Amino acid sequence: MELTHRPRRLRQDRIRPLVSETSLEPSDLIAPVFVDATTNERVPIESMPGHERVPIDEAVARVEEVRETGVEAVMLFGIPRSKDPEGTRAWAEDGVVQEATRRITSETDAYVVTDVCLCEYTDHGHCGPLEEELRGENGGVDEPVAGHEATTTVDNDAALERLEKIATSHAEAGADMIAPSGMMDGMVGAIRGALDEAGFERVPIMSYAAKYESAFYGPFRDAADGTPSFGDRRHYQMDPANAREAIREVELDVEQGADVLMVKPALPYLDIVADLRREFDHPVAAYNVSGEYAMLHAAAEKGWLELEEVALESLLSIKRAGADLILTYFAEDVATRLQE
Ligand SMILES: [Zn+2]
Repeated sequence: MELTHRPRRLRQDRIRPLVSETSLEPSDLIAPVFVDATTNERVPIESMPGHERVPIDEAVARVEEVRETGVEAVMLFGIPRSKDPEGTRAWAEDGVVQEATRRITSETDAYVVTDVCLCEYTDHGHCGPLEEELRGENGGVDEPVAGHEATTTVDNDAALERLEKIATSHAEAGADMIAPSGMMDGMVGAIRGALDEAGFERVPIMSYAAKYESAFYGPFRDAADGTPSFGDRRHYQMDPANAREAIREVELDVEQGADVLMVKPALPYLDIVADLRREFDHPVAAYNVSGEYAMLHAAAEKGWLELEEVALESLLSIKRAGADLILTYFAEDVATRLQE
């Protein structure tokens, strides 16, 4: 048999590492950490095995656990001690993320990224203050008009002012990087301006640039207590059907000064990750979300999948699609495995 091309030649044992196109390192990973101002003890998150909400007093210890695995960066999410329609605890100087950030950055060498949004801080669970959209053909704003469904949505520009305050308060507390996740129009430019004005021109922004309105966020909502009390987020997060729109969304964030561009979720949106890698020179981040984590755990619990293997393969595929960094609940487990 005469075969000129035999790709199997390069699949033999000792040559495989030499021709491997993609590698995964603990330094590629960011571990999400949930800090909860309403509890004095660690609370396991049922739908995310191995993860817990930790009280402010445990934030440093939690981050040290992450760092022991070789992962150097964490993304902080906060559960505030109280919520209100405006989400005022989000920019409080003694807020949960501010306090945790101060402690973590003064007591550890971790690189601290903070999530900047309002949904965990508003009592209605939306990503900004609400506006009533009841406009009918007659231009009336108070009365629902027959045939036009009344919908409430977030007041974009009012949200921006609050995001500026939140981002600045995080930077003042010592945050190394700011990550706005609310998908408000103009959020990156507004935050960049506010940070620069406050003297934080060296703090980068990782924008949740293409964040989809996804059902894969379910378990996170248990973790961060962030389920909207009514409606959903389709008026500001992207339609899962759209890919070209992602390029347009991301271009706007680039124009406004985003330093890192994130796609969220990761696995169902690898085409978007690959598109961004091709279209932009910026580092691309992908958020391997709670649902992607939970479904592998659930299948592994049933004995249907080998957890370590599928976790590793998932992250490798995200990297192969073009992500430079990956936010993932598997960070510690995979980093530990990579170090072995
Ligand atoms: Zn939000």
